[in-house]
Amino acid sequence: MIKRLEWVQQELDGLKEAGLYNNIRTLESPQGAWLIVDGKKVLNFCSNNYLGLADHPAIIQAAKEALDRYGAGPGAVRSIAGTMALHLELERRLAAFKGVEAAITFQSGFCANLATIPALVSKEDVIFSDELNHASIIDGSRLSGARIVRFAHANPADLEKVIHENAGTYRRALAITDGVFSMDGDVAPLDQIYEITNKYDVMLMVDDAHGEGVLGRGGRGIVDHFNLHGKVDVEIGTLSKAFGGVGGVVAGNARIIEWLRQRGRPFLFSSAVTPPDVAATIAALDLLEASTELVDRLWENARYFKAAMKDFGFDTGVSTTPITPIMLGEAPLAQQFSRELFTEGVFAMPLGFPTVPRGKARIRVMLSAAHSRDDLDQGLAAFRKVGQKLGVIH
Ligand SMILES: *Cc1c(COP(=O)(O)O)cnc(C)c1O
Repeated sequence: MIKRLEWVQQELDGLKEAGLYNNIRTLESPQGAWLIVDGKKVLNFCSNNYLGLADHPAIIQAAKEALDRYGAGPGAVRSIAGTMALHLELERRLAAFKGVEAAITFQSGFCANLATIPALVSKEDVIFSDELNHASIIDGSRLSGARIVRFAHANPADLEKVIHENAGTYRRALAITDGVFSMDGDVAPLDQIYEITNKYDVMLMVDDAHGEGVLGRGGRGIVDHFNLHGKVDVEIGTLSKAFGGVGGVVAGNARIIEWLRQRGRPFLFSSAVTPPDVAATIAALDLLEASTELVDRLWENARYFKAAMKDFGFDTGVSTTPITPIMLGEAPLAQQFSRELFTEGVFAMPLGFPTVPRGKARIRVMLSAAHSRDDLDQGLAAFRKVGQKLGVIH
């Protein structure tokens, strides 16, 4: 081994010893209700494909047509080689769907956070951040150089307290929260958070990655859910979860969107997503605007699955969304539970420390409109069997 790189192997070995090494399964099928995983057909409870759009025929068709018309790649950064009409159409459509003044797209939701936060605040400024915010918010916040002050999870009173404590110590302030928290499936009290940020004239940003296509009328997101149109300054979103494709979006106040076109570094120094990606999201918006059927089915599936799991005696945590944690306690139990489920033909992820707090390990079930009632019943039977075998339920 090359001596200067020995540390890498030591670190990797350390992860394995601590049980933190990621063994990534190989998929041999599209993302749908069922997957071929490592050669085995299994029920999919892992993906963020909330509406089943990742392999929807209308979306695949739209992507193929865009490939023929606009080609495979964007050629260069949009501010240098010009922006395709298709990207602008997507941004207009996203703004209209979400009921905001304007929108700009990025390569991913992660990138959208890295672009937006440093454009809004810098070292003279402060960020008030929910303690359970997503990694991309944390990284974007660090990149900005602003002082980061955490507030207690989903706690508007604590937000007000930290705003008071830091009064007079900054130039600008930005409060940031996830909309739906992906580990627990709870929803930020955005209406109460807005009351506080508005009172103290603090900018407000929400990351709606797990809310788009899920919350609000026809999946219009958390701002629509709380009827806060025009009040939340900036919304981050992803096109890779409910929308079924890839990309990120920032939506909200037109001045902020214009500023991001001038100063959002991943916009200025990195190429955009490809024409087929863009066409796929436009087709997803067509489907969502035409009917609420998929969103309704997602929620119906979530209600059905959760009610049955509670009947069996499982603890499904504090979720109020289709994200359904099955609380198990210790990480080794969650890992064993997941392995047993896989043997029963169900693919569901165990989550343990440090992704969730110690003693709060769980299996996370991601429900989708793609699941049929029959699929859910098969999944429930597997959970019951494994739960009884491992003594989690009786
Ligand atoms: C998934 C997620 C992202 C990242 O989105 P990508 O488009 O996959 O990069 C950002 N923020 C939150 C809250 C997320 O859940």
